[in-house]
Amino acid sequence: MTAVKTPITIAYGDGIGPSIMQATLEILEAAGAQIAPETIDIGEKVYLSGQTNGIEDSAWESLRRTQVFLKAPITTPQGGGYKSLNVSMRKALGLYANIRPCISYAPFVKTKHPIMDLVIVRENEEDLYAGIEHRQTEEVYQCLKLITRPGCERIVRYAFEYARQQQRKRVTCFIKDNIMKLTDGLFHQVFRDIAKEYPDIKHDSMIVDIGAARVADTPEDFDVIVMPNLYGDIISDVAAQIAGSVGMAGSANIGDHCAMFEAIHGSAPDLAGQNVANPSALLHGAIQMLVHIGQSEVAEKIHHAWLVTLEKGLHTADVYKEDQSQALLGTTEFAKAVIEHLGQSPKQLKAPSYANSKPLVLPKVGHKAPCVKELVGIDVFLQWQDGEPMDLGEKLKTFGSDALNLQLITNRGVKVWPKGFPETYCVDHWRCRFMSPELHLGFDEVLALQTRLHDAGFDVVKTENLYNFNGDPGFAAVHG
Ligand code: NAD
Repeated sequence: MTAVKTPITIAYGDGIGPSIMQATLEILEAAGAQIAPETIDIGEKVYLSGQTNGIEDSAWESLRRTQVFLKAPITTPQGGGYKSLNVSMRKALGLYANIRPCISYAPFVKTKHPIMDLVIVRENEEDLYAGIEHRQTEEVYQCLKLITRPGCERIVRYAFEYARQQQRKRVTCFIKDNIMKLTDGLFHQVFRDIAKEYPDIKHDSMIVDIGAARVADTPEDFDVIVMPNLYGDIISDVAAQIAGSVGMAGSANIGDHCAMFEAIHGSAPDLAGQNVANPSALLHGAIQMLVHIGQSEVAEKIHHAWLVTLEKGLHTADVYKEDQSQALLGTTEFAKAVIEHLGQSPKQLKAPSYANSKPLVLPKVGHKAPCVKELVGIDVFLQWQDGEPMDLGEKLKTFGSDALNLQLITNRGVKVWPKGFPETYCVDHWRCRFMSPELHLGFDEVLALQTRLHDAGFDVVKTENLYNFNGDPGFAAVHG
């Protein structure tokens, strides 16, 4: 009886994408993977045809039906107007967890870090990747960093569940909550709360700057690291590169309904069409995919054959070293070498077992009971260039009311009124905080203040309402 093949969606991508996809599919087929690939077009060609999100509308049908996507890297054309397909895809399909194992293969692949075996669990949908950016004044542009409680809960729980399933011992959280006290502060708090539910797994936290430095210096000290989107994006490239090459690290993007598997690297246009790219990163994405669709034995067989190929010193150009390697192989020849070693096990490198690696099923994240939310003030942002901070403060003071008083003005987050420093460099973007002396501020007062400012000729470019939640301020204190 022929085994039922699992339908998957694939895309060949751009640059080195087609050659590493071809190599990967050849290995999968030779290993007996029971898959039925459907090809969709994404990337540069689609962008340049006028589809600004880089994917044909019809391709979504395949993705939503198969719910499994093996994707080669794509090129995002330079210039405005093109949206990142990777970011849109992760968000549209709800792929909230990005799992990036970074492992070194010493002594067969040269690395300064021979004992490295860490996994980065990167939040995949939020943070600065919401794509909400604005130009507000002549001089100032902003990008909104969105961190949500459900987003933090899902990714942190995923990291602990993953650690437990993979018998890993420790989860570390990277955050920058010494500066971003509300957004990264929330991520950190959720991490501390959820860690208590996993007493069998050690946990600790690091500010991301020293964390990144330690990953680069002593990666052997880390096991699973969970972090918000941007830090995860950057640090996983660093980790993959110091393990040996970005050309070897794969990545799984996991959601409740769909999953996407890819290489962590991009389309490397400098290597396109030369048969020199390393297909290993996409192959590792494919191995994660096989585990996800319940074909763990085939995944193991391929992974073991790949390790044997490395042990035999058969290397692509990115990891080839004359004194260590036996042969320099092109993309196609490397794939052939992996195929020749199917059925063999590595002698020195650790051979992974995927018997227990089922897709994780996490509980749905519920909504918390609503807080008591009180409007207590407003930050009014002005474009203004008509003098010194003192002049602006004295003018704005007169626009207060019984309900709202000017409390302070900042420029780029630094207090410049009252009692600023003359040394502070100011741009044309002023945050003017009006607070209510009492707690029951009405929205009409906030609107009336904006109208008074507008009528007096001030250029109000944006406002942020200031709320207390259960009595605690929902806004950051001011520097200076
Ligand atoms: P890149 O990751 O494509 O390449 C950086 C360098 O790493 C290359 O010049 C090459 O020397 C090396 N490299 C990467 N993959 C390799 C492989 N498999 N084998 C051997 N060497 C490899 O990064 P980039 O040059 O900054 O970006 C190129 C394009 O890729 C851009 O258009 C970018 O937007 C896109 N990109 C796509 C994805 C994705 O589709 N997931 C991710 C990152 C970047």
